[in-house]
Amino acid sequence: MEKEKLFEMAGEVYRNVPAYVNYLLDKSVDINEITEFEDFPIIDKSVLLANQHACISPEYIMDSINGKLWGSRTSGSTGRYIEVLWNKSDYFKSLIELWMRRAEYYGIYPDNRMMFFFARVSGDDMIIYEQNNIGICKDMLNADGLEYICRQISEYKPEWLMLQPSSADLLCNYIIEHNIDIPDSVRYIEFSGELLTDRVRRLTKDVFRCSIANQYGTNEVETIAYECPHGAMHIMNSNVYVEIVDDIGRNVSGTGEGNIVVTSKTNKVMPFIRYKIGDKGCLNVHKCDCGNKAPILELTSARPSDFVITKGGDRVSPYIFVSIFNAINNTLDGTIKQFYVEQSDIDKIKVYLYADEEEDADYIQTTFKEQLYNILKYRYMIEFYYEDDYFHIDDNLKYIYFRSRI
Ligand SMILES: [Zn+2]
Repeated sequence: MEKEKLFEMAGEVYRNVPAYVNYLLDKSVDINEITEFEDFPIIDKSVLLANQHACISPEYIMDSINGKLWGSRTSGSTGRYIEVLWNKSDYFKSLIELWMRRAEYYGIYPDNRMMFFFARVSGDDMIIYEQNNIGICKDMLNADGLEYICRQISEYKPEWLMLQPSSADLLCNYIIEHNIDIPDSVRYIEFSGELLTDRVRRLTKDVFRCSIANQYGTNEVETIAYECPHGAMHIMNSNVYVEIVDDIGRNVSGTGEGNIVVTSKTNKVMPFIRYKIGDKGCLNVHKCDCGNKAPILELTSARPSDFVITKGGDRVSPYIFVSIFNAINNTLDGTIKQFYVEQSDIDKIKVYLYADEEEDADYIQTTFKEQLYNILKYRYMIEFYYEDDYFHIDDNLKYIYFRSRI
C-alpha cells in the first residue's frame, strides 16, 4: 500500500517538476516504462543544486513569487547552500511525529522551555527569544561566551537543550573545568547535526545527568530518524521513506550497508524523491522493546566534527565558518554556493569556495578575515581558492565543510 502511494507521488513529481522532468530526459528514461517506485532513478544533491529554481512544484510558483513560502538558505553540516522551500502546513506536518515521540519517550512538549544554538544568519543578534525558547549564537562558544551561556542556563532554567555534539563538547568541558553548578531544570538533551560519539554522549550524561536522544536529519527533509529510550534510531515513517542503495543505485538487501536515500512524504512545494543525501548506513527491522515498529537506522560513515585550534591552544567549534558565510551570503544574496575550510597549521587556514560572482571575491575575503579575527582574536594566514563548480571533498564522506589537518 505504502509503495503504491510513493509510486503515485513520485510519478506526479517526475511529470511536473522541471528539475525532475529534465533529469529523466537527460537519462533518456521514458516515464511510461517506469512501473514501480524503485524504477525511479536516484537523484544526487548536485543535480538539484544545479537546478534550484526548477525544483519547485508548478502549483506553488505563484506562492513562491508572492513570498508566501517558508525558505531556509542554510548549509547545515555540508558546506553546500540549498534553499529549501516549504509551505507552512507541510512544514509543521513534517515535525508532528518527532513531537509525538518526544512526548511519548521523554515527556517533552512544545511548551517546555528550550535552549538551542544557532549558526548566525544575519545581523549581530547573539541571543534570540522565541516564545518559550532561547537561542544562543554558536559564535559565543568561546571562553567569554561560555561563561555567559552557563549563566543563561542558571537564570532561564531551560527544561531541555537542542545541541550539536561539538557544542556539547565545548559546553560540558567548560562546566567541568570551572566547576559550575547546573540547575536540575534540564531533564532532556537532544543531539542533531553531527555524528554523536560515545565520548560526547558520556560527557554530556555525566554533566547534565538527564535523558539524551539523538536525532538524524537533513536541511532538505528535516527529521529522518530519532532515538528511542532503547538506543534505536527509528525512521520517522510519517515524514520520510528511507532506502539503502549501492553505488549503482540498486537496493541493498537485508541489513547491508549502503548509501542512504530518502524520499520526503511531506514537502509538496520542493519534493525530494529518492534523494541521495551523502551519508552511509544500514537498516534493521528487529523488534524494539519501545514498541515502535519503524525500521532502525544505523549510520556508518558520518564523521565526528573536528575543532578549530586557536594560536592560544583553545578548541573552537567550526560552526564559526557557517556563521561567517551565512552572514556574507545574506549581504551578497546567496552568492556562495559551497565552502570548505581546512586548518593546515596552527596559524594557517585554507578556504575553498564556489561562488556565483567573481567580483564578490574582495568583499568575501575582507569580511571573512575581519570576522574571523573578531571571533578568534588572532590573525591567521588565510589562502583562498576558487572552484568553478560544486566540489567533492572525499567520496567516502558526507559533504563536509571543515577539516583540521593539524
Ligand atoms: Zn525503539
